[in-house]
Amino acid sequence: MTTRRLYYDDAFEKEFTARVMHCEVLPPDVSAGITGSVWGLILDRTAFYPTSGGQPNDLGKIGDANVLDVRDEGNEILHLVDRKPSDPEVNCCINWPRRLDHMQQHTGQHLLSAMFQERFGLPTVSFHLGAELSTIDLRGPEPTKEILEGAERAANQIIFEDRPVNVRYGTADEFARLGVRKEVEREGILRAIEIEGADLQPCGGTHVKRTGQIGVVLVRRCTKVRQDWRVEFVCGGRAERMARHDFELLRDAAEKLSCAPEDIVAASMRAIAERDGNFKTLRGLQERLSEAEAVLALQSITPGAGGLRIVSRVVEGVPADYLGFFATAFVKSEKAIALLAAEEDGHLLFAQHSSAGKDMNALLKEVLEKVGGKGGGTRDFARGRLNDAAQAARSLLLAKEMLAAG
Ligand SMILES: [Zn+2]
Repeated sequence: MTTRRLYYDDAFEKEFTARVMHCEVLPPDVSAGITGSVWGLILDRTAFYPTSGGQPNDLGKIGDANVLDVRDEGNEILHLVDRKPSDPEVNCCINWPRRLDHMQQHTGQHLLSAMFQERFGLPTVSFHLGAELSTIDLRGPEPTKEILEGAERAANQIIFEDRPVNVRYGTADEFARLGVRKEVEREGILRAIEIEGADLQPCGGTHVKRTGQIGVVLVRRCTKVRQDWRVEFVCGGRAERMARHDFELLRDAAEKLSCAPEDIVAASMRAIAERDGNFKTLRGLQERLSEAEAVLALQSITPGAGGLRIVSRVVEGVPADYLGFFATAFVKSEKAIALLAAEEDGHLLFAQHSSAGKDMNALLKEVLEKVGGKGGGTRDFARGRLNDAAQAARSLLLAKEMLAAG
């Protein structure tokens, strides 16, 4: 049994009638996203395109059944549907927006690949038609910005010229004489797609009739994938939607920055410079404030046993850096010890003037062992982080007790 492939001769056939030659219940196929029972149908003729050559399958209706997947099984095409058609003679209908989208991306790919090859000597080694973006992998040196733009412009020029896209048949030898580079494994008469004056490629896929129907090609990012260069692109309706989406992003960003979309780079550079300047100023002010607070703290503390001057504070509402600034300023004085915790994130900092003679690292580890957390440091300066920030006050109390005991 061989299914006649209507799309070979007319890729614009959206509705057709066919006879069901074979119908059987198939088990679920979870890997293909099919979780319930489905029916596999083989028709005598079909316009449904099966997944192959980088192009996804068509969807649509066969009688009153919904098409879930279409697979190429050699001579036959298998349609997976969600119910058994009530009549062996079926009216079929292809989800046309989906198919047209695929044909725009696929024909655009032929054209774009041809431009990279002809103009810049970069052959396409693979093609993927995705749900949002399509990609081709180019082999060779990294395509520069000029090459990416050059291939895009050349492809669009041919789109604007609205050249015919023809289906041609011939043997591999005949196509080779016409300049087809692609090695073809299939024997006998082959099908090739010709974009007049631009490209001839063996291909069993579906394509638009004239380049104008591709609409436009937009080349997007280019990234390195293993040894090749993966170029993202969109054609036709996708290009229209993506251009609209890009503009909306620009407009929203411009609104946030209170500038015109064309000034967005300059405005964001100004905003970044301002942020960096503010950050420096903030650090400077934090240092000055922490020094002043350290002086006040020292004045208010009466030296305890061994002349130690211990400050113990849970600080709130200040950046974590502040703990470091305060501790550094405080332990400049002889016999000073600072035990600090940040209420928000459970940051702990224990520091001493070396004359205090304790071991901050050991103290921190001992406290963390009791309350839970991680950290470490030197004899004079140790930092840690509590698993539970709510333990901040308790940690400092424990540290003070341990200092008093040891
Ligand atoms: Zn093709």
